[in-house]
Amino acid sequence: MDQLALYDKILQLTAPWKTENVHLDEITGQITIKVTCAESQLPCPKCHALSKRYDSRKRYWRHLDTCQFQTIVEADIPRIKCKQHGCLTISVPWAEDSSRYTQMFENHIVKWASETSILALSRQLNLSWNAIDGILKRAVDRGLKKQKKVSCLHLFVDETCIAKPREFITVLSNQKGQVLAIADGRSSESLLECFSHVPIQYLNKVRSISMDLSAAFKKAVETRFGRRSSQLIAYDHFHIAKILNEALNRVRTAEVRSMPNIDQLHHYKTRFIWLKGNKNRDLDTHAQLSDQSQYLVNTSTVWFFKEQFRDIWYRSKHIKVKTVWKNWIQLAKETGIKPLISAAATVERCLLGILNATKYGVSNGRAEAINNNIKALGRQSRGYRNKERYKTAILFHFGNLDMRLSTI
Ligand SMILES: [Zn+2]
Repeated sequence: MDQLALYDKILQLTAPWKTENVHLDEITGQITIKVTCAESQLPCPKCHALSKRYDSRKRYWRHLDTCQFQTIVEADIPRIKCKQHGCLTISVPWAEDSSRYTQMFENHIVKWASETSILALSRQLNLSWNAIDGILKRAVDRGLKKQKKVSCLHLFVDETCIAKPREFITVLSNQKGQVLAIADGRSSESLLECFSHVPIQYLNKVRSISMDLSAAFKKAVETRFGRRSSQLIAYDHFHIAKILNEALNRVRTAEVRSMPNIDQLHHYKTRFIWLKGNKNRDLDTHAQLSDQSQYLVNTSTVWFFKEQFRDIWYRSKHIKVKTVWKNWIQLAKETGIKPLISAAATVERCLLGILNATKYGVSNGRAEAINNNIKALGRQSRGYRNKERYKTAILFHFGNLDMRLSTI
């Protein structure tokens, strides 16, 4: 096989394209492969009608290195004159129309960018951040266009801070941990924008949308899904349990403070005893709880309701679970303990969302895990100065997209 035929094979060229010559510049350490198109008539890119060549324009593409040499493909790209569409530049089989890199080179960048930092890639391949960003952006756009089937049975929405001071994005993901859409801010418009990126046929199949207690996200679901929203909104256990824990702490602090100073010492720093979950309670904790309960009666009452709350949440396979919750709310209100009454009012207001969450067993844990990954991505890149670049990186790494370019 001669040298030109070898490069035809390497670039996977077929007629009418062929390698004309290969030049090595030893001073710059660069190989230039000149490719030509011999045909005088070529198909129009729009209607495919054979049309005469009109003129040509020289272009260059970076290709994968040949051994230690940076390799450039050079070609005069013909323009044809179609009777119907006028003068048009024809597409080349080795690169995307707008790209300055061959498909094989772009695939190489996409593969490596998923395994290393942009900084390392930039240094290793002597490419600017802008160049890499352009390749990744095209890869993400390609992946989003190729996406045929999206799993949308259970959606998760969360906000995450991506830059100081307090610059937020809203992230919509599914039960597989796949990021489906991102939008600036954390308003109801942000979530509506996320929904607009998901094909309507998939949104129609949604059974639950898990979220924190954000009024903005609730409003967005109500706007997008109308009456169906009450069956979809699922509140996260962590965020409601947090309200109860805060109520417990307020009651405990007030109760301890109302004691004579000498007695306060005995109850001081007992916060974590009350907050410990059932699984983490050892015999010593049980003894301490029993001891403290004798003196902190209101705290003990709120603790009892907190424990009941968790039991109902996780063991709510009961047919009349709604009645069980209503009884819990009623009894909590009857205690007369203001922070508990306020927490019970929140539970009452969110009851449909709680019932949806327990029905499907969904929580925002997965969305929180994605948030952590997003923040870790920012730290690895030493912070993204450009927000759009950060958003592209999130979809690149967590969008589960097929971003490969099909080579010739
Ligand atoms: Zn045409």
